[in-house]
Amino acid sequence: MKIDGNHAEIRAAWASDPGPVMQMFINGEWVDSSSGARFPCFDPYAEQAWGSVPEATAEDVDAAVRAAHDAFDGPWRSTSPAARFALLRKLGQLIEENAELLACTQVRENGKGYAEMRGGVNSLASDCHFFGAMAETHHGYTVQPSLPHFTAYTRREPMGVIAAITPWNTPLGLLGWKLFPALAAGNTIVIKPSEVTPISTLILGQLMDRAGFPKGVVNIVTGAGPVGQALVAHRLVDKIAFTGSTGTGAAIGKIAAERHARVSLELGGKSPNIVFDDADLDAALRGIVAGIFAASGQSCNAGSRVLVQKGVFDEVVRGLVDKAAGMRFGDPLDPATEIGPLASKAQLAKVTSYFEVATQEGMKPATGGMCPNRPGLFVAPTVFASPPLTSRLVREEIFGPVVMVIPFEDEADAVRIANDTPYGLASGVWTRDLARAHRMIEKIRAGVVWVNTYRMGSHAMPFGGYKASGIGREMGIDALDQYTEVKSVWINTAGPADGGAS
Ligand code: NAD
Repeated sequence: MKIDGNHAEIRAAWASDPGPVMQMFINGEWVDSSSGARFPCFDPYAEQAWGSVPEATAEDVDAAVRAAHDAFDGPWRSTSPAARFALLRKLGQLIEENAELLACTQVRENGKGYAEMRGGVNSLASDCHFFGAMAETHHGYTVQPSLPHFTAYTRREPMGVIAAITPWNTPLGLLGWKLFPALAAGNTIVIKPSEVTPISTLILGQLMDRAGFPKGVVNIVTGAGPVGQALVAHRLVDKIAFTGSTGTGAAIGKIAAERHARVSLELGGKSPNIVFDDADLDAALRGIVAGIFAASGQSCNAGSRVLVQKGVFDEVVRGLVDKAAGMRFGDPLDPATEIGPLASKAQLAKVTSYFEVATQEGMKPATGGMCPNRPGLFVAPTVFASPPLTSRLVREEIFGPVVMVIPFEDEADAVRIANDTPYGLASGVWTRDLARAHRMIEKIRAGVVWVNTYRMGSHAMPFGGYKASGIGREMGIDALDQYTEVKSVWINTAGPADGGAS
């Protein structure tokens, strides 16, 4: 399966291909659900069911967690960091060799553009290599306490069994952010992918099997919310690493707190993309379009609130409406497509329900606000100009190609509006004034500030949110800290001349 300009051939082949019948991965074995139940995947461009995966039962979840627990207490505990690095290096190579399959499977699952999914698989491989190398370099520190005859140091130790629960919008990328640091640090893992996109994760599982991870170190169970719930509630799960909606994150956080499980949450956003009147407006417009319409707005870090200084507001709205109205719909496999379908019927219903809310609130879009008359789960790129700041469309995450353009007076006004949200995931600032950029960086309450760019990322930089956008950070050197406990060690170094041990 290689794209190289023949996306139409792949699409034609898929039309008559029923897709794979997949199994779950528990304790080194490929297995069906203990109930025998299965469910299909759905291609949102072709609007066709394809492939199928097992619907795990509570017993299957229990078996997967116990396998991970036994593997952690068994030989994996004493596997050297060098051996873990070697396994992750092998996995990274297998990801590179299978990049086309992994990318195209994700496109078929969630309808996201091929270029983004293919680039994402390149990043997945390099993330794997990056965290593999960190297995050997992650460390504690030594302290010389101000007490005589003692030396002290810290150790970073794995937490145990990690439950990784992932969403559908970037299935493998967001899994890698958990899987690689968790394994590099010496944990074992049970993965529960989104029910919308389980097949790509099971294919990655096949590569992990081939890489030679010992049995029970990696387990994958498939199914919807109740499967995730069973995992979160399991007393042998030491940490839950979750990416998904803020509501589900809050429910998981409560259950985890009751039994003192560790938790990291990567949740929703309503990120401000702020354009000052001294900005390079052409570059800002490109950044606004990429920030909200890439992946049809189904990105946690989407710049869904565009704040524009009053002097250039009309010009920016005009430019944005022109660009939005001219975007090319099409097959997400086709590199020429600018706007693909939404990932599922449920997501389409959610996004279009906001158009009804807009009408009830007396708002009209400057462009879009409807589904184009064509097959596939498409929503037109939509721009609302000068909405009331109390509107639900300004305050809630829509997770679709819908942008609210809001005027502001000056820096103070921009900061006030930018921070007037329960979320705090990402933000953008467009200005030629370096001092102003630094003032904004300091005042915006969000986990990322991009200046004169948007949506940049690297495994070397941490990612995560303030406020309702989450708890903890993924990526960067901070990531391994999230999968380790700190142990403080004290050693009495008193010899006979000092009066012996105390
Ligand atoms: P979701 O919360 O509906 O589902 C996420 C995962 O949780 C799925 O695997 C789902 O089956 C599972 N789940 C559902 N209910 C559960 C429960 N009660 N207990 C345990 N697991 C449960 O989210 P989604 O619709 O798949 O993803 C979209 C959301 O993810 C958006 O809000 C988006 O902003 C967010 N997201 C955040 C980031 C980030 O890094 N901050 C990245 C991508 C997506």
